[in-house]
Amino acid sequence: MTTPATNTLPSFLTLGGAHVVVQPPRYEGGGFRWECLGCDESLTHTYKKHACDGANAHAGRCRSMPRPDGA
Ligand SMILES: [Zn+2]
Repeated sequence: MTTPATNTLPSFLTLGGAHVVVQPPRYEGGGFRWECLGCDESLTHTYKKHACDGANAHAGRCRSMPRPDGA
């Protein structure tokens, strides 16, 4: 399975090793959302760059570890 490059969004690693993922808008005109899979914090931004910056900043201060259940 190949994924178009345009759909590739970055993910970041927290200090504890959990992932912070950036998700594309879920509907036309929606925002880009980053979500920390370690501590469940999330935020929606209008622009992809802002979401990436937010995800990166969160990853830099979050110490969450990956949850064993993967939820
Ligand atoms: Zn976090």
